[in-house]
Amino acid sequence: ILELQTHETTLEINLTAITHNLKAYKNLLKPSTRLMVMVKAYGYGSGDAEVAKLLQFNHVDYLTVAYIDEGIALRKAGITLPIMVLNVEESGYNQLEQYNLEPEIFSFHQLNNFYSYCLQNGITQQGIHIKLDTGMHRLGFLPEETEALGKKIQEQNILFVKSAFTHFAASEDPDEDDFTHLQADLFIKSCNTLEEQIGYSFIKHCCNTAGIERHPQYHMGMVRLGVGLYEGNKKLPGGETTIPVGSLKATVAQIKHLQEGDTVGYNRRFKATKPTNVATIRIGYADGLRRSLGNNVGEVFINNHRAPIIGSVCMDMCMIDITNIPANVGDTAEIFGMHIPVKEVAQKCQTISYEILTGIGQRVKRVYI
Ligand code: PLP
Repeated sequence: ILELQTHETTLEINLTAITHNLKAYKNLLKPSTRLMVMVKAYGYGSGDAEVAKLLQFNHVDYLTVAYIDEGIALRKAGITLPIMVLNVEESGYNQLEQYNLEPEIFSFHQLNNFYSYCLQNGITQQGIHIKLDTGMHRLGFLPEETEALGKKIQEQNILFVKSAFTHFAASEDPDEDDFTHLQADLFIKSCNTLEEQIGYSFIKHCCNTAGIERHPQYHMGMVRLGVGLYEGNKKLPGGETTIPVGSLKATVAQIKHLQEGDTVGYNRRFKATKPTNVATIRIGYADGLRRSLGNNVGEVFINNHRAPIIGSVCMDMCMIDITNIPANVGDTAEIFGMHIPVKEVAQKCQTISYEILTGIGQRVKRVYI
């Protein structure tokens, strides 16, 4: 891992915004609904350990990571909250136990070999989270498998179901609400079958961010907050607006004064049609600034103005048109943050905020403010 000592390209992470957003979502929940927060993929790019420490301080109930290594990193950073791991690999079973991580169990194959592992290694009690596939068709037991699943769990006394959950495929999309209701219905029925078989109850959860916002009737025992914590500019049903957590910033390395006919960057994609001032800033596609934002698609915010990104984005730099914008070497440009919503950047790249946030390169220094 590169040691960042001098490089100025920065993702500023506003910890006050995280606390604000967390509270705003908490306000949408009944006091009895637990809050699980996603800190997978390096905390959606914001730094898993730092975000997790703040979440722990704010008493969230659970954290979730995608892979065991991410859970280990949190434990090594001193996180003591319960951590669910979504996609457990067999090679990491011993670390699950060592680091007190709780696996999602999504298939009979996995259930059987994890149970065998526990048996062989003298593990007497292990909490698990059952994933039910109600329509996403990614990971999970199908509704028609839940009876057999319940029987299998009931037959042994090592694996203990702490929760069962499902993931909505399109909870943000009003056109797909019928499907979301169908998923919730299948989930409730499957949970009932499972509880009947195993003889005890467990926490049930199905809502991601959009589910929390749009389907309060499905909050159940717990919700799983992800992108809503980080993205910002979201007006919540309770009336509160979330604050962007990350601001991606880069500094001006050089300024050029072009004449009509001069061109900029690889393949000469920008051609000046009039005298033009150009600033080269220290961020490129290796840092997560998508190449598709070049050629006037994207903008940055500099000295209270929006400046278009011109020509092709390079690996480590890009060029912006600062004609009529007062700017000097060393000035800072915001790629996204308080002035340019990350969602706007994502839309211009024809993707979603999640991909932009998690795609910020390792060379970008994370600074917590
Ligand atoms: N639950 C599961 C199983 C997920 O995979 C994710 C994210 O991908 C979430 C919850 C959080 O989703 P969101 O970021 O849309 O809130």
